[in-house]
Amino acid sequence: MGFSTIAIHAGNEPDIATGAVSVPIYQTSTYAQDGLGKHKGFEYARTQNPTRLALEKNISALENARFGFAFASGMSAIDAALKLVKAGDHVILGDNTYGGTFRLFSRILSNYGVEFDLADTSNIADLEQAFRPNTKMLFVETPTNPVMTVTDLAAVSELAHARGAKVVCDNTFMSPYFQKPINLGVDIVVHSTTKYLNGHSDSVGGFVALNDEEDAEWIRFVQNGVGAILSPFDSFLVLRGTKTLAVRMESHDRNGRVVANFLAEHPKVQKVYYPGLTSHPQHELAKKQQSGFGGMVSFETGSLENAKKVLESVKLCTLGESLGGVESLISHPATMTHASVPKETRDKLGITDGLVRISVGIEDVEDIIEDLDHALS
Ligand SMILES: *Cc1c(COP(=O)(O)O)cnc(C)c1O
Repeated sequence: MGFSTIAIHAGNEPDIATGAVSVPIYQTSTYAQDGLGKHKGFEYARTQNPTRLALEKNISALENARFGFAFASGMSAIDAALKLVKAGDHVILGDNTYGGTFRLFSRILSNYGVEFDLADTSNIADLEQAFRPNTKMLFVETPTNPVMTVTDLAAVSELAHARGAKVVCDNTFMSPYFQKPINLGVDIVVHSTTKYLNGHSDSVGGFVALNDEEDAEWIRFVQNGVGAILSPFDSFLVLRGTKTLAVRMESHDRNGRVVANFLAEHPKVQKVYYPGLTSHPQHELAKKQQSGFGGMVSFETGSLENAKKVLESVKLCTLGESLGGVESLISHPATMTHASVPKETRDKLGITDGLVRISVGIEDVEDIIEDLDHALS
């Protein structure tokens, strides 16, 4: 079956009780049991909820994974995946992951004896150096935020597996529509459903998808044991969102390419970061491992002053954090999403004061271009 068919039908069987075509929001904390030890598969709503279960079937099918679990946020999903490692284990973390992921390692997991090192996962030689005898996990994000560095998922999976480590990929930027990490050898996929999967900037959530049965049992145990579950209402919203994932991602991608090309030719723009541009150093790898380039575009304006002018002159693009919604969002990584990253590290990664990031929405692209053109001039 094709992607759109799966997106619309997986997990979305008509309701058994009423025939409702849309999976109802089962807003209940508990379920009546027929007798001692006799129930319909649902005992208590932290453990099981039919709306959440429908979403779990849906997204795991989209990621081509056997198992999937929905969490209260992207961060709680990532935290659950990291509960596959223990004190004394070593994790290699991409050097340009989402700020919240770095903070989880540096400020929280480090208190529990989990060791970690940062590595440029796009550079295999560099990455190879980072492995230690106790390395149990490699955590990658591709493309990275905001400078769009691409990591070869098949190559790093092979490298990690040969050294006995599992690979986790944060697939938030591409969504399963453009990138299927599990098909490339990755063990565990995590998502912030807050972004493209829900797609309408009205819900915060997260997801873990995987194939290994034993690891899946542990994630299920953690989901229930810790309890950072996605609510029935949010599960409904994300399930509604994924039905249009294919058409939205096609639009984000189409608009993203137009915006990237426009910026690349604009005299006030010094550099554009977009894997879809032939000038991107990993354009060929991106073309091979992704089936599209998406809607995330970053560009260099040269100075904080220039960036500020652009960010404060746009009218259609909304100044704000987050990404992946139908509306175009524009942000300043150095002072917003990456403010907690030390300036030296920011400079090393290319996150300069003049860098501006756009999450290109699915408005008419002429309007987005006109807005940016006006703001740049
Ligand atoms: C937003 C985001 C997260 C965190 O997700 P929340 O839903 O905000 O908790 C993790 N990874 C990436 C790549 C993100 O963009």
